Amino acid sequence: MRVLVVEDEKKTAAFVRKALQAEGHAVDVLPDGASALTAVANTPFDVVVLDVMLPGCDGLSLVRQMRDRRIATPVLLLSARGAVDERVAGLNAGADDYLPKPFALDELIARVRALGRRNDPVKSPTLRVGDLVLDTISRQASRLGQIMELTRREYLLLEYLMRSTGRICGRMAIVEKVWDYDFDPGSNLVDVYIKRLREKIDSNFEPKLLHTVRGVGYVLKEPS
Ligand code: CA
Repeated sequence: MRVLVVEDEKKTAAFVRKALQAEGHAVDVLPDGASALTAVANTPFDVVVLDVMLPGCDGLSLVRQMRDRRIATPVLLLSARGAVDERVAGLNAGADDYLPKPFALDELIARVRALGRRNDPVKSPTLRVGDLVLDTISRQASRLGQIMELTRREYLLLEYLMRSTGRICGRMAIVEKVWDYDFDPGSNLVDVYIKRLREKIDSNFEPKLLHTVRGVGYVLKEPS
């Protein structure tokens, strides 16, 4: 995808650019609203990542001007302030999503991906176990229509478990599939992530789908 990052803070702009490029996106960075407005009017970006605090024209007025000119490019707003009223103001101005600073890069990447796919006419390939559905394009999980946001690592873990439905997945196998580098085998990271995943996909639902096989690993099973 082609992504425009509008952020005057050089450090933030640089690491957002690097992270998005690492995901395979083409990334342009602009430091102010006026040049960004010209760019979005002339270039078909898939997603705009827009900081609220900008010199001159701020992020909210930029979104408003874009929408006034019928530029429909999806906008993800970034803000240092996580206040609810600002979030509402951002969405009212025509932004599609909102991420308060400081944010996890995984989350930024997932949201950019979801926004970019929003208008994708291709039907999303989905994995299903019981009433748990995983959309492998938007990387969102849901049960009974309730959507669970997943971090990149949680997504990889869930995708692996769902593709292995009914088979016991040992910790080492999980590590190999989900943590490809910098992994300390002595850590309990797998268990920590399983716990987080379980809280998202199982704790508020019945029947439980993710089971522990003591001393061996984990298995995601169709309800019997
Ligand atoms: Ca800024």
